[in-house]
Amino acid sequence: MTQENNDLDSLLNRMRTVSSPIRGTLTEIHTSLKGMSHGRVADYIPELASADPNWFGIAITGVDGNTVEVGDSAQPFSIQSASKPFVYGLALDSHGRDHVLSKVNVEPSGEAFNSIVLDQSTNRPFNPLVNSGAIATTDLIPGASHVDRIKNLLSKLEQYVGRTLHVDNATFISERSTGHRNRAIAHLMLNFGMIEDRVEETLELYFQQCAVLVNCKDLSVMAATLANGGVNPVTGVRAIQSEYLKDLLSIMLACGMYDYAGQWGYLVGLPAKSSVSGAVLAVVPGKFGIAVYSPPLDERGNSVRGVATCRALSERFGLHVLDAHFVGSSLDNEFRPSRG
Ligand code: GLN
Repeated sequence: MTQENNDLDSLLNRMRTVSSPIRGTLTEIHTSLKGMSHGRVADYIPELASADPNWFGIAITGVDGNTVEVGDSAQPFSIQSASKPFVYGLALDSHGRDHVLSKVNVEPSGEAFNSIVLDQSTNRPFNPLVNSGAIATTDLIPGASHVDRIKNLLSKLEQYVGRTLHVDNATFISERSTGHRNRAIAHLMLNFGMIEDRVEETLELYFQQCAVLVNCKDLSVMAATLANGGVNPVTGVRAIQSEYLKDLLSIMLACGMYDYAGQWGYLVGLPAKSSVSGAVLAVVPGKFGIAVYSPPLDERGNSVRGVATCRALSERFGLHVLDAHFVGSSLDNEFRPSRG
């Protein structure tokens, strides 16, 4: 057992007690990073522009359902792109892998999240975690009418969160009235037959999806559900068929942080997703979900404190999923030669 794994196990044990010292570790990280002053709060709609740049919350939920939170972890915000992996999961659950793959590729784009670019040979969006791919997976949300489809979307997100969710109407209206770029992307995909001819309805659903209100704790439970094999650890409800879990986690590792995905994979090494509202959620498979909320974004659109917090946690507890020590130690336990 490596030092990191000892630390990780004692971290998990400590999360189980009420006066959890993990709160001390999170408070320490929170204190050391709250003074970071760079980054800009998204300002393309008033609902995001009015966020306080000092807001900073961290929450960790274990696969046993316990949560430890510090800072502004109860502050509500619009989920924005952090919804994208979960909508991809809904598309997979509803249509199966082959059909979804025929509509959305699984390749990092290397481009900004809102770029108007499709894979040249197949006309598919690069992946489901950039806007083009997310509009394509939104098109795959099942239901006979717009009302059915928004109900299906909300109830899916609610399975991950474990509570009733609502669309923030002001954010939705603002997204809709400023979403010309997303409209252009959708029409390009309609031109190539990648989405069905109900573009306005699908865009409405996409804008509503972005405007669902959550908080940092909610996102940590969503991440913990993915860490827990797809079963919400608080409610016991299965949110995604287990066969699709690796589809979500691998795409989050490869593409979850936009054009920072390569460095993120190298430095932090956790399946993750960020959003323009300033959230980052990350999954430590089999262990816990991490969520950070802090509105100032870097030039790639990722929360500055969100990236720094996940990096600090990953380094401190050896959380990188490809860390040879981590893999090596579990293999040692699994395949220890039998005696006699
Ligand atoms: N509403 C945003 C958009 O569609 C979501 C993008 C994001 O969170 N990065 O542009």
